[in-house]
Amino acid sequence: MGSGQWKPTEVLFKNALVYRRQGDPSEDPFVRADLLVEGNRVRRIAYRPERFDLPCDGPGRVVIEGSNLALVPGFVDAHTHLLQTFGRGLMDGLPLTPWLRLIWDYKLSWDGYYYSTLLGALEALASGTTCVSEMITECAHPDAVVQALVDSGLRASVGLAIADYMEGENTPARATDAALKLAEDFVTAWDCRSDGGGSGAGKSRVDKPGAKSDGNPYSKSDLGGRLLARIAPVGLPACTKELLQGAVELSGAYGVGIHIHACEGRAETESSFARFGKSEIEVLDECEVLSPGTQLVHVVWVDDHDIDLIARSGSSVVQCPSSNVRLLDGVTPVVKMQKAGIPVALGGDGAASSGAYDMLVEGRFAAMLQRLTMGDASVLSPHDVMDMLTRNGARAAGWVDLGDLSEGCLADLVGFNVDSPRLAATDCHALLSNIIFAASTRDIELVMVDGKIVVSRGNHTALNVGDVVERAREVLRRERIPRSQVWRGSGA
Ligand SMILES: [Zn+2]
Repeated sequence: MGSGQWKPTEVLFKNALVYRRQGDPSEDPFVRADLLVEGNRVRRIAYRPERFDLPCDGPGRVVIEGSNLALVPGFVDAHTHLLQTFGRGLMDGLPLTPWLRLIWDYKLSWDGYYYSTLLGALEALASGTTCVSEMITECAHPDAVVQALVDSGLRASVGLAIADYMEGENTPARATDAALKLAEDFVTAWDCRSDGGGSGAGKSRVDKPGAKSDGNPYSKSDLGGRLLARIAPVGLPACTKELLQGAVELSGAYGVGIHIHACEGRAETESSFARFGKSEIEVLDECEVLSPGTQLVHVVWVDDHDIDLIARSGSSVVQCPSSNVRLLDGVTPVVKMQKAGIPVALGGDGAASSGAYDMLVEGRFAAMLQRLTMGDASVLSPHDVMDMLTRNGARAAGWVDLGDLSEGCLADLVGFNVDSPRLAATDCHALLSNIIFAASTRDIELVMVDGKIVVSRGNHTALNVGDVVERAREVLRRERIPRSQVWRGSGA
């Protein structure tokens, strides 16, 4: 499949190994089937042998021979700062608190934010991520970030981070009302769920450099299917209770969920006791932030009572293992949370902290960390990791009908090549384990988002990645980001 616009209205995967989540893990996780995508949804799955083959002919139907493909739901990165991609490698060697001081000084032009985000988005797509939940930290051009997400072909939840309390010397705190107004304006501009466009569609710039000369295929009408908004108070250490209560009101008024950092570093978490005399989770509970539509990110420094409060609220937790280890935050108590019934998802956080946007790496690392810290090699099974990467991520990021391969679901999927050296010669139970613990980006044959094949054999089907990288380099040269030695020097 070459580059260019993706036009077929139906895609039939013929005779593929389709991931089928079972209640009973002893049942086969992959079953041979024909899978038909119509528009942006999985329309039919004909499992063998109990259901018949689907016919190959049909108007606009493209048939993909799937005998060497294992199809799994697209991965959801439930917490990203793709806009920080230009900051990758600049702050290596710092723990969270000095790192935070530096990231607040990360300021780019419109083009800078656009290309920083687009680079991260293309990297995420190539590694099987089909949906991200982007928290846009302090940024003068949030529309550049959203535009890059739209142009990349990803599905995305987007929230503009707001703060009204000086956590450190340079936290971008605003007056409470002004911060809430920013969040409200962002939601009204970009939440485009129901009408295929919404008011934000009018702001779309679809002709940015980097798109192929025949125009970007992701037109305004695509926004409705692939974008939804979140309210994103940055986290209690940089927020007042008034801001959190205002965020909850906005969330209710607009019917959008809340995306918030929580209990990330030890010092940051302990500041809650100094300010409020109670734990961060207790304060979030008191302000009614905890609810089924809320995604709590990190959640490292919690006790059993906090876990119980989260579980009772129905909130999701998003762990970010690479970022949390690299910044010395600690390890999210995922197994305890699982036992309490909390849906736990995974996040790559930003490349400036974690290093890469690769959800297979995050899932694998998460499982290994839990096994090591719990002293139990059986915890976080491949089924559990697949749940975290897919359905739990979709739930955390506010999407319904996503994160599963069943009839009626949104058609976001990843096709792994089972003829690769890492995935060959296995039964279907081992195949699932090997995808989680051995596979890499090199084994990904295709990535489909919203019914469109966006990545085929490592190539983006609409954007020339080489051209984007070249343009990004030019833009980066003009940005006023200190060189890495300066960051290290000032933060040491
Ligand atoms: Zn974050």
